[in-house]
Amino acid sequence: MFCVKGLIIVISGPSGVGKDTVLKRVLSLEPNLKLSVSATTRSPRVGEIDGKDYFFLQKDKFSKLLNNDEFLEYTYYCGNFYGTSANFVDSLLLSGKDVILKIDIGGYFSICKKLKNVLSIFITPPSLEVLARRLRNRGLNKEAEIEERLKQAEIEIDQASGYKFSVVNENSEECALKILDIIKNYKKKL
Ligand code: 5GP
Repeated sequence: MFCVKGLIIVISGPSGVGKDTVLKRVLSLEPNLKLSVSATTRSPRVGEIDGKDYFFLQKDKFSKLLNNDEFLEYTYYCGNFYGTSANFVDSLLLSGKDVILKIDIGGYFSICKKLKNVLSIFITPPSLEVLARRLRNRGLNKEAEIEERLKQAEIEIDQASGYKFSVVNENSEECALKILDIIKNYKKKL
């Protein structure tokens, strides 16, 4: 059972929309906000650190944790598993922090079935063309993966109305400030 001392904030948005840059800025501006570190079976990208960006796990280890019910939610996305550790989030909430979950839409909808009063924010790109350009320019994925991520992006953007708030990422600084505003105003009303 979760201790709801802090607030859970779900932030989603299609791959390539700029979530990492925006969230880095959000976290640097508000020390009471902490990012949940998910587990994944995908391989680390250049520069990613185990325990900081993700807990990078083999599939059998991930399945074991899943069978032990240790994930608050999980998803299978573009060939890999991703999951939110219930213990990780709970210990942050217990210490009074507000916790950001950077998860996909499927994860958000399953969390909604378990928890009330989750603040949800969807980050959208200015357009699908801009998103495609960003995905290609960052050079992290092969063309086939980019095509898959773009297809997934269209599906996700169609479902963004299920979120409490939606913010367009034209400019990461402005987007970060808008997200902080949303969080501040939401907390005032609690
Ligand atoms: P990436 O491979 O680009 O780091 O992440 C791919 C997608 O998985 C992103 O949309 C990201 O938000 C989502 N994701 C990362 N961790 C989790 C998680 O723990 N649960 C869910 N449901 N999605 C996640």
